[in-house]
Parts: sequence; structure tokens; C-alpha cells
Amino acid sequence: MFFTYSFFIFYFIGGISYGITYESLQDLWKLQNYDNRIVELKKSFKAMPLRKKLLKLKDEIIKQRDELKFKQDELEETRKKLRQMERTCRDLTFMQRDIETKLYSGEVTSVKELEQLEKKLNKIKNNKGISENLTLELIEEVEELEKQVNEQGNSLKGDKRKYKKYKLKYDTEVYKIKEELFKTEFAREELLENLEKDALNIYEDLKKRKNGIAIALVEDGKCSGCFMNLPIALENSVKSKQKISMCENCGRILYWKGE
Ligand SMILES: [Zn+2]
Repeated sequence: MFFTYSFFIFYFIGGISYGITYESLQDLWKLQNYDNRIVELKKSFKAMPLRKKLLKLKDEIIKQRDELKFKQDELEETRKKLRQMERTCRDLTFMQRDIETKLYSGEVTSVKELEQLEKKLNKIKNNKGISENLTLELIEEVEELEKQVNEQGNSLKGDKRKYKKYKLKYDTEVYKIKEELFKTEFAREELLENLEKDALNIYEDLKKRKNGIAIALVEDGKCSGCFMNLPIALENSVKSKQKISMCENCGRILYWKGE
């Protein structure tokens, strides 16, 4: 490879070139533009600000969904406890009523039995009081959890809507980039079909060595690759479009696009 490259440099410096005709230089210039555009397009995929925004939002949605699920489970558990407590209160009410009926019916005459019943009644009333307080606390807890679940659910819905909106925009942008990428790659392939093999090899070799830019423009008497002033004779030679020349400083092929 190096030998090939040196061989061409030698002849370029001598002002004569083999391997590249002026027509193929025009094609190489097009090829370089395609190649640069392809690199740019591929880069722009990763650098899309919307992509970062979407990824961040997606993480946020997953986090929110987990938190909501946790809250919903907590709410369900508390509701279950509330139902149990309400059942306990009902049971205790029935038990209290039974004992009171028995107590005031006059059926029980034994003092000892009456005392025992009263003792049992007090205990039930006491338990009922505790259960009723717990029920109230659980009702408040359920209400608070319902409020939180509602708020978190709304926030999640809002973020999901936002995500959909951004995703649509992102997909449109991605589609545009992919479409241009496809067209550019297709045009590149078409160009390669008619490009001389030698010219392509020189271009690829130079591209590798010159940071992706094999062909530099002549602009305001300078080489656009290294920004060095070009000798007038060299500039004129490039502009004459008669032969292929290279920048004596950076070694890139010089190309004149016209005024
Ligand atoms: Zn240069």
C-alpha cells in the first residue's frame, strides 16, 4: 500500500499523474462529499437531542410506573385491612346486642352470671371502641393513598403523552435521516460502478492518511485541507483542470470547484 502511495506522490510532485483522470477527480470529489455526508448522518443519529430527552423520559416513566405499582399495592393492602376491621366492628356490635338482650330480658337471675355478662359486655364495648378508632384511621389512610395514587397516575399519564409526542417527532427526524442516508449510500454505490479502480484506491488510501479528507479545495489561493498558500503556478495549474495536482504541504489532491 505504502509503495503505491509513494509511487503516486512521486509522479504528482513531478506534475504528471497516473491513475486519476480529471473526470475521475470530479467523481472522487462527489464521492468525498457523499462519504462526509454519510459520516455526518450516522453521527447525527446519536447526537439527536430528542433521543437523549426520550431516553431520560423513558427512565422516568419506568421509575414512576414502579412507584405507582408500589402505591397501588399499598392501597389494596390498606383497603383489605379496612374491610377486616369493619367486619370486626360489625361482629362486635352483634355480640354486644346479644349480650344486652340477654342482660335486659330478665332471663338471667344469677348475680354471678349477671356480673360475668356485664364484664364481657364491657370488654366487647372496649374492643369495639378500639376497632372503630382503627377503622377511622384506616379510612383516612385509604383516602390519602387514593389521593397519592391518583396524583401519580395523572403525572404518569402526562409523561406518557409527552413521550408519545416526542417519539413521533423523533421518528419523523429519524425517518428523514434514514431516507437521506439511504439515498446518499445508493448514489455512492452508483458512482462507484463507473469509477476507475486506481482512482478509488488512491482516494481511499489518501482518505485513511489524511483524516478522512483526501481532496482539498482551492479557495482564495489556499488549500482548504491545510490552509497553506499555494504557489501561483500550482493554483493556475489546478484551475486549468488539465492535470491532477497535490498540495505540496499536506499531500491532498487539489480540486477547483469554479467561481
Ligand atoms: Zn494542503
